[in-house]
Amino acid sequence: MKKIGFIGLGIMGKPMAMNLIKAGYSLIVYDIKREAVKEVVATGAKEGKSSKDVAAQSEVVITMLPNSPDVKEAVLGKNGVLEGAKAGLILVDMSSIAPMVSKEVATEVEKKGVEMLDAPVSGGEPKAKDATLSIMVGGKKEVFEQVEGILKVMGSSAVLVGDIGSGNITKLANQIIVALNIAAMSEAMVMATKAGVDPEKVFQAIRGGLAGSNVLNAKVPLVLEGNFKPGFRIELHIKDLANALDTAHSVGVPVPLTSGVMEIMQALKVDGKGGNDHGGIVQFYEKLAKAEVRHQK
Ligand code: NAD
Repeated sequence: MKKIGFIGLGIMGKPMAMNLIKAGYSLIVYDIKREAVKEVVATGAKEGKSSKDVAAQSEVVITMLPNSPDVKEAVLGKNGVLEGAKAGLILVDMSSIAPMVSKEVATEVEKKGVEMLDAPVSGGEPKAKDATLSIMVGGKKEVFEQVEGILKVMGSSAVLVGDIGSGNITKLANQIIVALNIAAMSEAMVMATKAGVDPEKVFQAIRGGLAGSNVLNAKVPLVLEGNFKPGFRIELHIKDLANALDTAHSVGVPVPLTSGVMEIMQALKVDGKGGNDHGGIVQFYEKLAKAEVRHQK
């Protein structure tokens, strides 16, 4: 079994690392937040002193960090993965970042004989916990085959979609679909509620039809409770939509609906709600309409 380094133990990284430990892998872990490291070490991982230290003791390094600059810092920066890496190391970046940055980082690490895959995920915290993430992978087939078993410990599917960067392009497509679905759900549920129909009954009535979706099933119960604890923070979804707009425009694809939802998320951020779960998009509509989609007593 390959020795695995894991860097970035946040909402997603922590349960993913714990699932690898449960599956019998020996893990060395690092996060700039000491408490996060302690929690995973308590379940059987070894503590790394830095990303460099983690890389020096691993055959495969997984990163699960917020954004492109964080991945650059942890991999190419001082005391980063590249400083500790030996030729032959496989770097699997599972963060959702700009596809161009995946390509840039891969080019840099290749100079030292390190192979890289971009392997972002979909499914959020619940699926990270029960190891049923959908993993979309970009990179070389022969590298993918070496870590496919590791990825399948964390997810129910791991699909090689193309060359390096393709994983993150696929993730951007995923994020457009999720954002637009949440906005559609919000618009519809606020209308139904203010028009006088119990939103819980609306959900029960439509979930089995064509409007039914994973988004509806995951988010409506939380909205009904007024629970906007993340989950997936609006500010992280803003990061993904910014990357989606850049990528779409750079290849000549207008994305009017994505732009619209981006502005809704920007308004929520200005309103102090950037740290809420993206299900909190409903709050934008609730404020406009002066009606809340909640359980009725
Ligand atoms: P998070 O903010 O909870 O966790 C990120 C962790 O990285 C934090 O613990 C932070 O301390 C650590 N970190 C930041 N910079 C670091 C560095 N230089 N070195 C070491 N550690 C560092 O974020 P998250 O929700 O776990 O998301 C991680 C990635 O997964 C993001 O790209 C996000 O878009 C993506 N994602 C999240 C979800 C979700 O539902 N939360 C779902 C799918 C994909």
